[in-house]
Amino acid sequence: MDLCGLAAAQMRRMLDSREVSAEELARAHLDRISRLDPAVRAFITVCEDRTLTDAAEAQKQIDGGGQGALTGIPVALKDNMITKGVRTTCASRILEKYVPPFEGTAAERLRRAGAVLLGKTNLDEFAMGSSTEYSAFFTTRNPWDLERVPGGSSGGSAAAVASGMAPIAYGSDTGGSVRQPAALCGVVGLKPTYGRISRYGLVAFSSSLDQIGPFGRSVEDVICAFEAVMGRDPHDSTTVDMPYDGSKAREPVLKGRRIGVPSELLSGEIAPDVSHAVRAALDLISDAGGETEEVSLPMIEHGVATYYIIAPAEASSNLARYDGVRYGLRIDADDSIEMMKGTRSAGFGSEVTQRIMIGTYVLSAGYYDAFYTKAHQARTIMKRQFQEAFRKFDLLIAPTSPVPAFRLGERLDDPMAMKLADFCTIPANIGGFPAISLNCGFSNGLPIGVQLIADSFQEETLFSVALALENLLPPFALPEIEVA
Ligand code: GLN
Repeated sequence: MDLCGLAAAQMRRMLDSREVSAEELARAHLDRISRLDPAVRAFITVCEDRTLTDAAEAQKQIDGGGQGALTGIPVALKDNMITKGVRTTCASRILEKYVPPFEGTAAERLRRAGAVLLGKTNLDEFAMGSSTEYSAFFTTRNPWDLERVPGGSSGGSAAAVASGMAPIAYGSDTGGSVRQPAALCGVVGLKPTYGRISRYGLVAFSSSLDQIGPFGRSVEDVICAFEAVMGRDPHDSTTVDMPYDGSKAREPVLKGRRIGVPSELLSGEIAPDVSHAVRAALDLISDAGGETEEVSLPMIEHGVATYYIIAPAEASSNLARYDGVRYGLRIDADDSIEMMKGTRSAGFGSEVTQRIMIGTYVLSAGYYDAFYTKAHQARTIMKRQFQEAFRKFDLLIAPTSPVPAFRLGERLDDPMAMKLADFCTIPANIGGFPAISLNCGFSNGLPIGVQLIADSFQEETLFSVALALENLLPPFALPEIEVA
């Protein structure tokens, strides 16, 4: 049997019954990575030594009977999540050699839970992008079709899970970077409510939007991955301990659920095969007793524009710290201004540079009110429209990505098309709402994702409906991957 295709929940049972050891499981995944990753290119770093030490630690926990859901389960982390002693590059030249002296909270909680770290996955530089093509190092490929993108920016984590190189991986979602690659790779991806998971040790892109989220091949696995890292953290003052009941979250209930379908997300820019698959999922939901109804949320049309003011503004401030003094790359020069200029122009790729320039511009005196203040007003109105909808509906449902995986290079010359890839996912970030993407079918061999969005801190409802919907859809099976 191929261990690597199993759900993490199944691996858990096998570890507990001693059918497999943590080390065997870790080695099976390391072997699969060395066989497949030359074709998929999901990993920037594979930390084999750490993997085996973690596995030995995990086995001790299991043998002592102190294991939790993730003890001995291999995981991968997006390479913008800080890991002590393991290089953390953000897929940027500026951090290419940066080895953090501390562990981020998510990594720390996973380590304590006995999860086994396989390595760090590829992303668009500093998580800015929708295809993983903006990585300064290489492009990750979609395991379903190696000539296509895996989505982004957490494309490496999505591809690792979809190809069986890791049962669980984590990414970060600022405008869709977990859900959109999950959709394009046919796996489950979650963006929790803003404040559920600590951002301490997540390299900051846009702090009011960023949120860590897990990938898995089943909803149950994603729930376990979420629970392992959630909750208040004294290192991140935006985290809160809001009630969450894991057993309620695990009761699949569709009957009687009121589910709103935002009309702005099922028309216009959405490809026919995507809306077809999402409508088929809606029919399954109605047949199972869920009540679906169209709802108009007109501010959705302004989501991308609003996002592309707020996110670059915050990024321009967050990325000011890469100055050649404190972290990573330094290009020496005669004076410190020239040193900083040289470092930053050599260290940042063009997408990141553009965002810094846009962000600096919208924050500058004279433009601040016209752009930045306006974007915040739009953000408030949009959030209110969603909150209004959540008075009537338990959840909203929409496509995750307007299109299935596009070809490598196809959108590189069309920045607008690249940015519209997040049309359906951005609203949940703007409002801080939790949202999950599941596979709801295939078109020409390419996965299509459907997204559920709930009101803030209603992860229980989100998971309950996601589990019920998943039960109505075909289970995940690993794609065949041709290795040269
Ligand atoms: N694609 C969006 C961007 O480029 C979202 C990225 C993300 O969620 N990290 O900003």
